[in-house]
Amino acid sequence: MIVMKKLVVGNWKLHGSRAFNAELIQGLLAADLAATAPRADVAVCPPFVFLSDVAAALQGSAIAVGTQDLSVQAQGAFTGEVSGPMVREFGAKYAIVGHSERRSYHAESDQLVADKAKAALSHGLIPIVCVGETLAEREAGQTEAVVGRQLKAVIDTLGEQLSQIVVAYEPVWAIGTGKTASPEQAQAVHAFLRAQLRSAQAQAAGVPLLYGGSVKPDNAAELFAQADIDGGLIGGAALKAADFAAIARAA
Ligand code: PEP
Repeated sequence: MIVMKKLVVGNWKLHGSRAFNAELIQGLLAADLAATAPRADVAVCPPFVFLSDVAAALQGSAIAVGTQDLSVQAQGAFTGEVSGPMVREFGAKYAIVGHSERRSYHAESDQLVADKAKAALSHGLIPIVCVGETLAEREAGQTEAVVGRQLKAVIDTLGEQLSQIVVAYEPVWAIGTGKTASPEQAQAVHAFLRAQLRSAQAQAAGVPLLYGGSVKPDNAAELFAQADIDGGLIGGAALKAADFAAIARAA
C-alpha cells in the first residue's frame, strides 16, 4: 500500500458569480485549511472567467487553483478555447481533463483527453484525468474495460511523463446523483487503475487516485480510508464552504 498526501479538489462546474465566489472563498479561508496542509493538498477549479479573481483571493493561502478543462492548443485561431499558458499566467496549478460532462456533452474522445493531459504537462500544469463508467456499462460488467481503455489512451500518449498526473475515478452514475460508490466499489476500481499504472511504469504506481461522485462530509472519511483512494474530486459539496472544508479535513 502506498501512503501519500491526500488531495481534495473542488470542481465548481458552471456555478458562481463574483459575489457568490467571494462569499465561498471567505468561508474557505475562515475554515483555516492550513491546518490540514500537512495531510492534504486542497484546490478549487472555478469557471475560467473567475480564475483571476479566485487566484488573487486565495493567494498566500493553503488552497491552490485549477481549471475545469484546457485546450490542446497553446494559441492560434481556435475560437472559444483557453490555453495552458493563459491559465498559468493567472496562477492555475491543476487542469481537470476528461470530466464525464466534457466527454458526453462535448464528445471528447479518449485521445483528445490524453492530448489535453499532455498539453497541460507541457505548460507546467498538473492534469487531473477523469475516468469512469456509466451505469449501463457497470451493469454490463464493463467497468474495468471502460476505465482501462480511457486510462490506456493517457498511458500511451504520455510515456515517461505518466507519473506526473493525477487520476480521478468518477463513476458517471454517481456524479451529482447523490448515489456514491460504496468504499468497496470505489477501492476495487482504484486498485485496478493502480495496477494498470504500475504495469505501464513502476514510478506511476505513485500517481494520486482521487474518487469523485457525490462525496459529502458524511461519507468522505470512509472513502478516503481505502488503501488506494488518495483524495477526492468534489462537485456539489465544493459549493458550500463548510461541506468542502469538512471533506478536506476528512482527508
Ligand atoms: C464532479 O462532477 O466531479 C463530481 C464529483 O460531482 P458531485 O460531487 O456533485 O457528484
